[in-house]
Amino acid sequence: MFSGGQDSTTCLYWAKKRFKEVYALSFVYGQKHELEVELARRIASKAGVPFEVKNVEFISELSTGCSLTDNSIPMDSDKPAESYPNTFVPGRNMFFLSIAAVYAREHDIMNIVTGVSQTDFSGYPDCRDSFIRSLNVTLNLAMDEQFVIHTPLMWINKAETWKMADELGIFDVIRHETLTCYNGIPGDGCGHCPACKLRRQGLEEYLSQKKLGNN
Ligand code: ZN
Repeated sequence: MFSGGQDSTTCLYWAKKRFKEVYALSFVYGQKHELEVELARRIASKAGVPFEVKNVEFISELSTGCSLTDNSIPMDSDKPAESYPNTFVPGRNMFFLSIAAVYAREHDIMNIVTGVSQTDFSGYPDCRDSFIRSLNVTLNLAMDEQFVIHTPLMWINKAETWKMADELGIFDVIRHETLTCYNGIPGDGCGHCPACKLRRQGLEEYLSQKKLGNN
């Protein structure tokens, strides 16, 4: 599952290192930034993997109030105390993974890789390990298959994700070509949305650790 962001691009190269054949599957769900898909296509082509986009816009039609898909809603910059930030798209990863599993079955693929992380995120329930494991069992039962959902970033933070990218030799690809910013600006992004802040904090932390390690 590949969006062209920092996490899924790191996972794309993680997968390339482990598996002979890798397919990148992207989803359009009414997110404001279609540029995201274009950048994803470019990265996949550079990585030499087939790239496909599935249109799942119905996801954003099902629920209202998400700032990622509705331009009229200002984005929460912090996590509200009692609920999820309005960047939460209910059911998103459930739909994505279910579609990815059917796609995988069609292509005789058993290993599905996703960049979700429980460590450094806004508290989205569909990024948690328990959800992923549960859905993995459900998908196997639903299709009588033995899919394995891999989550290389589940227990690591953003600084460690930068480290992983560096070890995979794609630090510059991640730094300059991926899009994580909620305001649709590639690379270092707008600098002030929650995604940019998280990404930059992780980068600074990783670079200072690296510097200490080198001295
Ligand atoms: Zn931003």
